Amino acid sequence: MNGLDQFPRRCWAEIDLAALERNLSAIKKALPPHVRYIAVVKADAYGHGMHQTVARLMQAGIEMYGVANVAEAATIREIGGTGWSILILGATLKEEAQFLFEYDLIPTLSSVEEVEFLDTLAAERNTVLKVHLKIDTGMGRLGIWHEYAHTLFDSVKEAKNLQLDGIYTHFSHAETDVEFTERQRRRFMTAISAVSWIKPEDLLIHADNSAGLTSFTPGSTYNAVRIGLLQFGITPYAQSLFARVPTTPIFSFKTRISIVKDLPAGTEISYGRTCRLKRHSKVAILCAGYGDGIPRSLSNKGFALIKGQRCPYLGRVTMDQTIIDVTDLDPTPLAGEEVCLIGAQKGGEIKVEQFARWAGTISWEILCSITKRVPRIYKTSIATG
Ligand SMILES: *Cc1c(COP(=O)(O)O)cnc(C)c1O
Repeated sequence: MNGLDQFPRRCWAEIDLAALERNLSAIKKALPPHVRYIAVVKADAYGHGMHQTVARLMQAGIEMYGVANVAEAATIREIGGTGWSILILGATLKEEAQFLFEYDLIPTLSSVEEVEFLDTLAAERNTVLKVHLKIDTGMGRLGIWHEYAHTLFDSVKEAKNLQLDGIYTHFSHAETDVEFTERQRRRFMTAISAVSWIKPEDLLIHADNSAGLTSFTPGSTYNAVRIGLLQFGITPYAQSLFARVPTTPIFSFKTRISIVKDLPAGTEISYGRTCRLKRHSKVAILCAGYGDGIPRSLSNKGFALIKGQRCPYLGRVTMDQTIIDVTDLDPTPLAGEEVCLIGAQKGGEIKVEQFARWAGTISWEILCSITKRVPRIYKTSIATG
């Protein structure tokens, strides 16, 4: 870990790996049995820790992983050797290409140039490289624009040292716009069906991320999904599918009170004197700030749980400390007491989704912003119960 294990914890994250495994079974149960599950574990498994998360996913029988780049993929190979497929979701830089061969990775290709470059490299090595082609159906990021997709298919057909293993697209508005998502699905299917030599049943055909699942149709051509956020128990969308998939959050974020003190009414506190106390107040100082991953945008906006009760943030979130109002708590909390920033505590709960809304951002960014200073503590009980 970080060599600080002998010191008492000031701010830490708890990660429930058994809940991760339960979430996984719940999602799989909601999908037709033939659908391949690609566990998306980019960005240090969304801040949960790549090593522990992926080791648990491997134990739970996950056979395919999605990561952002070859370096993340190499980490997976170090954890569990071979036997797993790894799809690189990002574009591969030329300088990274050698690692595709070294670590047996599947790149995502969006252009004829990429196809030709990798085909040449594979030929030089006298090997065949599996690839996924990406079709842009509206996101505008990776993938070839769907109307030009035939040029990419033509080039991969010519590439003797590439083996087409999958075709995919990515939704831009799946959480709230079912109609546009349907249009993206139609564009995707039209691009594929226009090519006579492609047999979808022999390939992995995938589009759905967590939000996409809300409009996933069993019996369709899709035979794989790419799930990130939902496996961690986070559902920022209200749609029906998620009601049927009983996932629970696996991540909580905690700190402790350093001191509690009284301040008179009318005092203007914090940096920039950004909070004026309306009443005589008891405030608690927390051992965590933006240096740990509490966004500064939560200044005067957030809440933390003490004994399950919500206590508002006062003034600015600072690098190492945050002030909260504990005037209404009875009894007054003590120095050293545990504070829950994200998660459940004694009947109270602050979900990542809620925390993100207060901060004016999204759950993905919150998870990626918990800093290196914060040790991740793993609960590793078995998945039943
Ligand atoms: C990150 C990512 C996913 C996973 O998205 P979630 O919304 O977290 O489920 C799927 N596909 C691609 C291409 C991604 O980059």
